[in-house]
Amino acid sequence: MPMNKDEQMTLSQRVYPELSLNVITRQEHNISRKQISENALKVLYRLHGAGYDAFLVGGGVRDLLLNEIPKDFDVATSATPEEVRKLFRNCRLIGRRFRLAHVMFGREIIEVATFRGHHQEQNTPTASHAESGIILRDNVYGSIDEDAERRDFTINAMYYNISNYSIHDYANGIEDLEDRLIRLIGDPETRYREDPVRMLRAIRFAVKLDFDIEEDTAEPIERLAPLLRDIPAARLYEESLKMLQTGHALETYHLMRQYGLFQQLFPVIADHFTPDYSSKAEKMLDMAFDSTDLRIEEGKRVNPAFMFAAIFWYPMLSLAETLMEEKNLSYYDSVMEAGNILIDRVVKTIAIPRRHTATIREIWQLQLRFPRRNGKRAFRLLDINKFRAGYDFLEMRGLIEGGDVEELANWWTTFISAGRNMRQAMVNDLGNSAPQGKKRRYRKKKTASGKPQTQE
Ligand code: ATP
Ligand code: MG
Repeated sequence: MPMNKDEQMTLSQRVYPELSLNVITRQEHNISRKQISENALKVLYRLHGAGYDAFLVGGGVRDLLLNEIPKDFDVATSATPEEVRKLFRNCRLIGRRFRLAHVMFGREIIEVATFRGHHQEQNTPTASHAESGIILRDNVYGSIDEDAERRDFTINAMYYNISNYSIHDYANGIEDLEDRLIRLIGDPETRYREDPVRMLRAIRFAVKLDFDIEEDTAEPIERLAPLLRDIPAARLYEESLKMLQTGHALETYHLMRQYGLFQQLFPVIADHFTPDYSSKAEKMLDMAFDSTDLRIEEGKRVNPAFMFAAIFWYPMLSLAETLMEEKNLSYYDSVMEAGNILIDRVVKTIAIPRRHTATIREIWQLQLRFPRRNGKRAFRLLDINKFRAGYDFLEMRGLIEGGDVEELANWWTTFISAGRNMRQAMVNDLGNSAPQGKKRRYRKKKTASGKPQTQE
């Protein structure tokens, strides 16, 4: 039987149903050029002046329509990356999966992407699909219509046209913006299979914008969460920072967990999850994310190492307990070894850079050193580079664990704020209440909970 016209459609045409363009003129929307970064405008005008189409797209348009300040401005154009480079001296071409031009203005980078087209054939040198449906390379250029169909969510497929200041809305993004909905363009399952990171992005935007995830867009997530296994660890690291270090960590974690995504990203913690969120590990997550969010709200710097140290502390301690039993190691050695094993495991999924894993280890090691305050030890600890992070960490543990750990944290709180004489008196006091013999025993002594013994 001959194929009818529908059956002859290529795969990509079926996946990406044709979108209908809705143009919103300058008079009908609230975006003014004053809200757009000067550098982004420069890029748009120069591309336009050279005869190319040039649009602001993505988060820039979405956030301005919501009266929010965009994090950055992305540009989409008909010029190829090479053509973009010819127009800007301050331009770098980057990316393998997506070839992009970065136009650099000091600290501000304007990302310029060429309109992307559909893959008509598979496994050509410019576009390739793996068996799982994931897109490996994606350098087929196309029209703006095709570009819109390749974008993830309807609210991310709105283009601000520099030639007449109108907005091209390809996927009813305006309507979803009004209804406050995160909705994938096209068939959700196919779009997640092409790029499973879109599941994380759905959560991220839902939390950041305080939108709901539309039903059909939400439905496949829990089922497809395991696909994140195929994503390179470097990309997951970048994405995890966007999710957990931008001021909405607590809410993002809870929503990710609801969809089974947090467990995928951090498998070592899944064993510590309880139905009522009551384990120490879970309390630590709540506390660490909450304090991260607070710091960002207060305009303070956040250190990813601190957050990762918190996420993995209790899983690491469980492992240390096992090692202590199995290998008859001291508490100190078992924690050190468990730390190494755990970090090696974690970086296979999330490529935490070495400088951060070094800090995670330092924060953990400090936890073992805090109880040991005799002689000059407490004074020396104060001078350690990561002391503050270690102390903040101890404080969280104190709130979670109570008992000895809380007492220890309180001791340090007083010590930090005390003057020289008072500090010396505090240390002398320890000497009186901690008999010599006990100090030696500390290293080998195990406790049921695996937490370090204080010396008093
Ligand atoms: P923000 O910058 O505020 O995090 P954004 O929407 O600008 O949000 P970017 O990661 O900067 O997000 O990406 C810019 C645009 O590129 C998106 O709005 C979307 O249109 C498109 N895009 C980004 N990542 C994907 C993806 N994985 N799949 C499809 N389209 C994507
Ligand atoms: Mg952006």
